[in-house]
Amino acid sequence: SGRWSRVAAVIKELEDRAATPIGKLRQVADAMTVEMHAGLASEGGSKLKMLISYVDNLPTGDEAGLFYALDLGGTNFRVLRVQLGGKEKRVVKQEFEEVSIPPHLMVGGSDELFDFIASALAKFVASEGDDFHLPVDRQRELGFTFSFPVRQTSIASGTLIKWTKGFNIDSTVGEDVVAELTRAMERQGLDMRVSALVNDTIGTLAGGRYYDRDVVAAVILGTGTNAAYVERANAIPKWHGLLPKSGEMVINMEWGNFRSSHLPITDYDRALDVESLNPGEQIFEKLISGMYLGEILRRVLLKLATETALFGDTVPPKLETPFILRTPAMSVMHHDNSPDLREVGNKLKELLGIPNTSLKTRKVVVQICDIIAKRGAHLAAAGIVGILKKIGRDAPPKDVSKLPRTAIAMDGGLYEHYTIFSDCLQSTLKEMLGPEASTAIVIKLANDGSGIGASLLAASHSQHL
Ligand code: ADP
Ligand code: MG
Repeated sequence: SGRWSRVAAVIKELEDRAATPIGKLRQVADAMTVEMHAGLASEGGSKLKMLISYVDNLPTGDEAGLFYALDLGGTNFRVLRVQLGGKEKRVVKQEFEEVSIPPHLMVGGSDELFDFIASALAKFVASEGDDFHLPVDRQRELGFTFSFPVRQTSIASGTLIKWTKGFNIDSTVGEDVVAELTRAMERQGLDMRVSALVNDTIGTLAGGRYYDRDVVAAVILGTGTNAAYVERANAIPKWHGLLPKSGEMVINMEWGNFRSSHLPITDYDRALDVESLNPGEQIFEKLISGMYLGEILRRVLLKLATETALFGDTVPPKLETPFILRTPAMSVMHHDNSPDLREVGNKLKELLGIPNTSLKTRKVVVQICDIIAKRGAHLAAAGIVGILKKIGRDAPPKDVSKLPRTAIAMDGGLYEHYTIFSDCLQSTLKEMLGPEASTAIVIKLANDGSGIGASLLAASHSQHL
């Protein structure tokens, strides 16, 4: 009938606009490498900020003592304590707690947010048991994972450039987030020093390196997306400080802000961007990350409802609510293997109030999930290839016996839980690198590795060393 041919036309157009053939992915990877060079060359030289982290040494395994970590970067924050036992005993004991952030604090005042965090941290510290040992008169130390773009001024200070991922608190922008946290801890009567300020990518890189010596980069695919990697210090023209002894510097790419004319951007993406809290920014992130995939799906379904009556003669009102369809629900629908796509039916009913969908309609929904998720996974893989090119690990050396092993620490709920997405990312990486180079590349899931990584960096930057 006319309806189904209209449906097919909408899908076809989406497929065309969102297409990521291998040639296009190579262009994206190349553009990533080019922008990395530009961002390292000068401040503001690229959409990629390529932020200097002040981490010039990654964990060695010698770290010892009691350290805390606090991870703020999305919908939840985590507090963690770890007793490190040096080379022999490694991680002796660790405990963590997760607290969700009330939405009104994400868009309120700076003090309110930091007071909430410091209060939860103080409660957690109060519950410290006898298995953890702090030498007498020793101040507790904390690694602060703060996963928003920050211009670092030292390993333990940095000013917020902008909020992302649904946070929007004007009074924090331009402030030193360590000072903000420290003041809030003082207000709580909590005696604790922030010894390291890192991004979750840097934390994940540090945690990844602690467990695997070959880790050279970290990628986050969760609510947002970002990447960090180890750069040669003399390959950073914008760095005017002394060259670190190690000769290396960890770079926080802030790759979520990458953009390129080669990115396959559709009208749905453009509308999402325009109506977002940060129009024109985080364009790569808006194509890839967990915060947005479900929302893109909603927008396509809304178009199908309005222009093809996919869900009947009226447009389901809930479908007009931004962000009502979250990526975990999309993932459930996409992974539905039942013959009648029961889960798809359930989700459409539960979340969107659309009862009694036909199998044909459900199949359309799954097809849209597939287009959106795979585009995201393809682009994330292309981004990784861009990094590997930058550090010369994308192709085997002339003497193939000298092929070094390269490990990438990966973290984030999207990669961890959305299997079709992560499988697609891995197979795309293989395809782009070719059979030889790809045998030496491993992606290691570092489940919440950023917390342990931040505590390790607090240990290696302790005031008591
Ligand atoms: P954050 O990025 O907020 O630090 P996580 O790394 O835990 O936190 O990632 C959480 C994000 O991962 C969620 O916002 C969601 O987008 C995505 N996610 C979580 N669970 C799933 C799932 N089952 N399927 C797909 N995406 C998921
Ligand atoms: Mg996280």
